[in-house]
Amino acid sequence: MTLFRLVYASRAADALTPSDHDQILVSSRRNNGKAGVTGLLAFSAREFLQCLEGSREAVSTTYGRILADPRHQDVQLIDCRAADVRWFGEWGMHGLPPSKLTRQRVLRYSERELFTPTRMSSGNVLALLADLAQELDAEQKATAPLEPAVTSSIRPSSEAPREGLLAKIGLKREN
Ligand code: FAD
Repeated sequence: MTLFRLVYASRAADALTPSDHDQILVSSRRNNGKAGVTGLLAFSAREFLQCLEGSREAVSTTYGRILADPRHQDVQLIDCRAADVRWFGEWGMHGLPPSKLTRQRVLRYSERELFTPTRMSSGNVLALLADLAQELDAEQKATAPLEPAVTSSIRPSSEAPREGLLAKIGLKREN
């Protein structure tokens, strides 16, 4: 079975509230856990950035549902490829609220301090995700697992260390 990773960005619907974000994360975790899909959902009041990883079939089915969701619009597919390892293997869907998207982090990968993944280059979005994966991995190692998302049968048993992820995926920052 091919491990697959899909990344997209979108604009939040105008009337979206923090409780909508919570609801999205609840149903994502419920559904993704069953489907063996892991990933990250970063959001601001205006935009979403999501990474989905799992079997190609499961990722495609999940993405198909997400595309039809009226809680966001203008969905832009950023990247979609076979992957060697999961970046977010511990999370059915890790929610990354605006407080975690520091100005410093956003500025490292984009020309503006507002988190606007729909305007970032694909390379910079992937570099940001790899950076976040590395940090989450380090946090995970420092604390007990909070949110096991997938069963041990689908979690890769010999996941490669994420050190040097940027180098491993051949990415360079563009700014
Ligand atoms: P439920 O979660 O039980 O919801 C029932 C129905 O109501 C669904 O059709 C849902 O679309 C709709 N609904 C619920 N609340 C609202 C609302 N406030 N406004 C409009 N419609 C609403 N789903 C995943 O499974 N995995 C993901 O990783 C994932 N990521 C998402 C990322 C974004 C940015 C968004 C906007 C949605 C995401 N979703 C994700 C939700 C997805 O679009 C579907 O809503 C969800 O998968 C349906 O799950 P469910 O059948 O269990 O329905």
